[in-house]
Amino acid sequence: MEKYDAIIVGAGPAGSTTAKYAAQGGANVLVIERRGEIGVPVHCGEFLPAEDEMKKLLHDVCDFEIFDIGKNSVSRETDTLRLVSPLGKRFDNEFHGVVVDRKIFDKRLADDARKAGAEIMTGTRVTGIDGNKAETDKGDFFADVIVGADGPVSTVARFKGMQSPKELSPCYGREIEGDFEPVVEMHVGSVAPGGYAWIIPKKRSANVGVGIQKRFSQKSPRDVFEEFVSKRGIEDETLAVTGGLDPCSGPIRETLKGNTLLVGDAAGHVMASNGGGIPIARVCGKIAGETIAKHASKGTPLLNYEKEWKRQVGGPLANSLRAKRMADLVFRNDKMLDLSMRILGKGGINRVVTCRRVFGII
Ligand SMILES: Cc1cc2nc3c(=O)[nH]c(=O)nc-3n(C[C@H](O)[C@H](O)[C@H](O)COP(=O)(O)OP(=O)(O)OC[C@H]3O[C@@H](n4cnc5c(N)ncnc54)[C@H](O)[C@@H]3O)c2cc1C
Repeated sequence: MEKYDAIIVGAGPAGSTTAKYAAQGGANVLVIERRGEIGVPVHCGEFLPAEDEMKKLLHDVCDFEIFDIGKNSVSRETDTLRLVSPLGKRFDNEFHGVVVDRKIFDKRLADDARKAGAEIMTGTRVTGIDGNKAETDKGDFFADVIVGADGPVSTVARFKGMQSPKELSPCYGREIEGDFEPVVEMHVGSVAPGGYAWIIPKKRSANVGVGIQKRFSQKSPRDVFEEFVSKRGIEDETLAVTGGLDPCSGPIRETLKGNTLLVGDAAGHVMASNGGGIPIARVCGKIAGETIAKHASKGTPLLNYEKEWKRQVGGPLANSLRAKRMADLVFRNDKMLDLSMRILGKGGINRVVTCRRVFGII
């Protein structure tokens, strides 16, 4: 029976990045992924801030190489982030973004992990974790360290008695064929109660979707979506349907318990105010991977993982949660939200979007 240094559950951005850096540092790594094909189906808006924006958003990150997207994964670049208030006022912010194709992007990250020496087993579901053992539908596997990179409803967290993100925003969307301007639109207010509706342009299509909070809405995300596309006058030439749950309550309290680490959505590593999780998953995955490698080679405690992700991305995650909590107070009422946006103006809104404090202290 082979015993690995680490078993990583999930080959999304968090899992593949953790695997790459752990293997690169000499650890013997197995990644277990339930999907038959990595990255498929896509449940994502696929929008990322470009590298120059990432440097401003996450300035304490040690290594910006992590934000290199790779040309092949890019579907389109955008230059404007447009916030649309409930009464239709547009706030255009200059913002350099990249829309990726996650079918390619996630596979590339997994290939990088393989090249570094990680073993990746697809089409295999982890059904339980017991101490150092990962139970799957293809048998049991053993490791010194177990990593839950298995998304917002984490099997690893459940079996290890660890917390999961408290609030999850249900999302629904479609990739719609057509020509769209190079502008990312975010519509707020009753159009998407407690969240926002998005239009993210790709090469010859756009990801159109909504994320809501259940406590603000009696309707399903799908009904909210149908109303949005009809109001916005978008012709429905559907290429694909997307959806899922996006953590929106900030990081969980403990991302480390004994020999187990949680990374990415499983740890609530998502910007609560906008639902963006890929860049944070990658930063925290790198830290987790490097920590595992040092643990395997020198016995360095795993504690460093938690200390280091908090140092590098804890501030922006906390600011983003604060902005979301503030927005929750005014989201209930379209007129109040509209007025708040007008008072904040383009500059204030830009600070919210880039996860900075709005009034110095809040
Ligand atoms: C509709 C929607 C739109 C979004 N849009 C954006 C966006 O535009 N930009 C952005 O930055 N973020 C976006 N996000 C968030 C982003 O998708 C996540 O933050 C990101 O994918 C987190 O990566 P991860 O590796 O932690 O999790 P995931 O990408 O979810 O990967 C987890 C992996 O674990 C596997 N898995 C789960 N359970 C098991 C098991 N028991 N056994 C084996 N494998 C398992 C899954 O199959 C999956 O491959 C969006 C989310 C949603 C729901």
